[in-house]
Amino acid sequence: MTRPRILVLSLGGTITMVPSEGGGIAPKLGAAELVASVPALAEVCEIEARSPFRLPSPSLGADQVVAVAGEIVAGFAAGFDGAVVVQGTDTIEESAFLLDVLVPGDKPVVITGAMRGADAPGADGPANLLSACIVAASGAARGLGTLAVLNYDIHAARFVQKSHTALPSAFLSPLVGPIGAVIERTPQIYARVARAAALNPSAGPPLPVALLKWAMGDDGRLLAAVPDLGYAGLVIEGMGAGHVPASVAPLLGAVAERIPVVLATRAMTGPVFTHTYGYAGGEIDLLARGLIPAGHLSGLKARLLLGLALRDGAGREAVVTAFESYQ
Ligand code: ASP
Repeated sequence: MTRPRILVLSLGGTITMVPSEGGGIAPKLGAAELVASVPALAEVCEIEARSPFRLPSPSLGADQVVAVAGEIVAGFAAGFDGAVVVQGTDTIEESAFLLDVLVPGDKPVVITGAMRGADAPGADGPANLLSACIVAASGAARGLGTLAVLNYDIHAARFVQKSHTALPSAFLSPLVGPIGAVIERTPQIYARVARAAALNPSAGPPLPVALLKWAMGDDGRLLAAVPDLGYAGLVIEGMGAGHVPASVAPLLGAVAERIPVVLATRAMTGPVFTHTYGYAGGEIDLLARGLIPAGHLSGLKARLLLGLALRDGAGREAVVTAFESYQ
C-alpha cells in the first residue's frame, strides 16, 4: 500500500537540543536524526526530512517562517500530501499562525516541538513527532489549515497558546479548547474551524509592527515615538475587552492617523468588544478614533497579521479585510 508522502522541516528548538560544550542544551539534531529516532514513523508515512534551520525559536524570524511557508507551498505542488514543521515551543503559536495564513489549500500542515530535550528522561519529542506525522498523513486533518500537535492534543493555529514554561502539557487553546486528539494513533477531530483567505507567501515577510501591552497608570509616553521608529503598524493589548486610561485614547488616535493601529486584549483570551463600553478610553472611543479590532486574535498573532496585511503598500482597508475573519 502506498503511504502518504510527508515533508518534515526542522527549524530547531528543544526537540533538537542536546547538552552543549558551553553548558546547557542547544540545538544540534536535524530532521533526519529526529525521524530516525522514531522507527514507528515508517508505518505511518514516507518522509522527506529537511533541516532549513537549527535555531532556538526565540531567534527564529518571521521572514524565515515565511520562507518555510513558501517551501511547503512548493512541496505540495510537487506532490507531498502533508507537511510537518518541527521547531522550538517558545514561538510555536506565532509560526503556526503564519503558516496557517500563508499556506493555501486542504493539505495538512502540522507544527510540533518538545518541552524536554532530546536526551532528557521522558523526552516528549519522539511522541510529538509521531503524533504530528499521524495527523499530517491523515485525511481527517484535510481542510483544517495549520494544526499544532503536542502531548496528543490537536490545536487550531488561530487559538493555540503556550501557557506554561516547563510542562509537556504547556499548550492550550484557552478560547475553545483543542479541536481534537491523537488517540490510539488515530486523529480524532471534535470541531472544525473555518479558514481565513490565504495571504501570499511570495509577497515577503511581514512589515515591522510594534506590540505594546497596556498596564495600570501607563501614560502612553512611548506612543508618539512609534511611527518615527519605522514601524508600519501598531498593536496594543488593551485592558479587558480593549480599554486604556482616558488620557491615552487621544494619543492612540494620533498614532492611528499615521499608521494602522489594531486593538487586542491583554486578557488571556476572549474577543475585544466593539459596542459596549461608552467611557473615554473604552473600546467605542478607541474604534471611533480609528483603531481596528483584533477580534479573538491574541496580540502576538494580530501583530503578524497586521504586518502581512500591510505588505505591497497596502493600507487600512486591507487591514480591516484581513481581520474580518477573526471577529
Ligand atoms: N527555548 C526553546 C525554544 O523555543 C523551548 C522549546 O523548544 O521548548 O527553542
